[in-house]
Amino acid sequence: MTVLRKNLIDGEWLGEAGSPNINPSNTNDVVGEYASAGPEEAKQAIAAAKAAFPAWSRSGPLARHAVLKKTSDEIMARKDEIGRSLAREEGKTLAEGVGETIRAAQLFDFFAGETLRLSGEMVPSVRPSVGVEMTREGVGVVGIITPWNFPIAIPAWKIAPALAYGNTIVFKPAELVPESAWTIVDILHRAELPKGVLNLVMGKGSVVGQAMLDSPDVNAISFTGSVGTGKRVAAASVEHMRKFQLEMGGKNPLVVLDDADLAVAVDCAVNGAYFSTGQRCTASSRLIVTEAIHDRFVDAIKERLDKLVIGDALDAKTQIGPVVDQTQLKQDEDYIAVGRQEGAELAFGGDRLERETPGFYLQPALFVGSTNAMRISREEIFGPVANVIRVNDYDEALAVANDTPFGLTSGICTTSLKHATHFKRNSEAGMVMVNLPTAGVDFHVPFGGRKGSSYGPREQGRYAMEFYTTVKTAYTFAG
Ligand code: NAD
Repeated sequence: MTVLRKNLIDGEWLGEAGSPNINPSNTNDVVGEYASAGPEEAKQAIAAAKAAFPAWSRSGPLARHAVLKKTSDEIMARKDEIGRSLAREEGKTLAEGVGETIRAAQLFDFFAGETLRLSGEMVPSVRPSVGVEMTREGVGVVGIITPWNFPIAIPAWKIAPALAYGNTIVFKPAELVPESAWTIVDILHRAELPKGVLNLVMGKGSVVGQAMLDSPDVNAISFTGSVGTGKRVAAASVEHMRKFQLEMGGKNPLVVLDDADLAVAVDCAVNGAYFSTGQRCTASSRLIVTEAIHDRFVDAIKERLDKLVIGDALDAKTQIGPVVDQTQLKQDEDYIAVGRQEGAELAFGGDRLERETPGFYLQPALFVGSTNAMRISREEIFGPVANVIRVNDYDEALAVANDTPFGLTSGICTTSLKHATHFKRNSEAGMVMVNLPTAGVDFHVPFGGRKGSSYGPREQGRYAMEFYTTVKTAYTFAG
């Protein structure tokens, strides 16, 4: 029997029969049934968050610390069970699901600590006997809208700082991954968050998400998802003069120079381009490779891809799980067709795979002979598809790496200190990796990009404070 998961509005679990959530490794497996909120429920959730803000924002660090620490401890204690459930609904492997769950626990732990470290500044005024204090306060009701590809880590890295700095929340997760969202909200609710502080509204983006965008009572929106939706969030937020933060797509370059350690470069490329089924905003989708190492690099990648185990996400032997759903699979296959039409050579993979259970299995695809002008080089595919662009030297590699509308992550594989240092300084990306995959970041430092990838203050680490607080400057004349 499938369980009905409800929405959390003003401390009550509400909602009638909703939509089923399907396991992408086995489409006969229904993960659960999830209530689907409408515009009215979204409005109730926003009103509840607004009413809860004054008390929560003045609750003091210990109350917030207690909730966040308790949440972190429970997530960590249940990491295997939650990680498995995540892998079941999203299709990433068990190891990736458990790793992401641990990441969520670490994020709650980090921001539990931040509640006790919030500080301000005090300076003398230019006027005699006047003191000036600069303090930070919560922004108000924060709308949190998340994508499906990191079903627990992305909600965690938004919810934890929002609560730590005294905001109240309306949380709208992606339609494809409601179980992970529900689980994190259930844990926070049982950690004794006051009613109305955190509200969960599962449902369609065009309905629930749009109701959040249209509400004058949502004071800030933190959004992660596609560029198209991000632009809607931006336009609606400007209309309401609200704060907003966007984390969107990527077309991240991994540069491989002739002097690279081949084994390191191949590890970086295979991990960065194909792990998590290539469904990471930080995926290395453009492999920019210099002449002398090109053929050895391509041969070595093909050899590695041939050995990868692609299968059911819940099988411990699986290294690459299925694509998340039929729509994404079609998008991946369409781009593979586009690459061929554009004249790139499909050097490996790209075919649908049959497994014991019906699922969205796709063989990782590698293009060679591609140029940076092709659509497969310019548009985010968001699947296990990467293309190699051959270049003459470091200067050309850097120019090609930066020639993109995106700017989330970038990477270089080289043993040259000179080139690594130059690349770190001149790469037009928010996060730069040397001899590391472009995907895979720490939880205690800023995350975010440039150009079409991101807008607004960085997420994570102490930098998260910039978005989730507003500065107050207070003057006192002591007489
Ligand atoms: P999406 O834009 O389709 O959906 C993201 C969220 O927006 C979902 O919750 C969706 O329901 C909601 N939404 C849709 N229409 C809306 C509307 N009109 N109003 C308000 N909300 C609405 O993105 P997706 O397919 O879930 O995620 C994939 C994208 O996310 C990729 O482009 C990927 O690069 C990006 N992503 C970026 C980062 C990052 O940090 N830069 C991280 C992960 C994913």
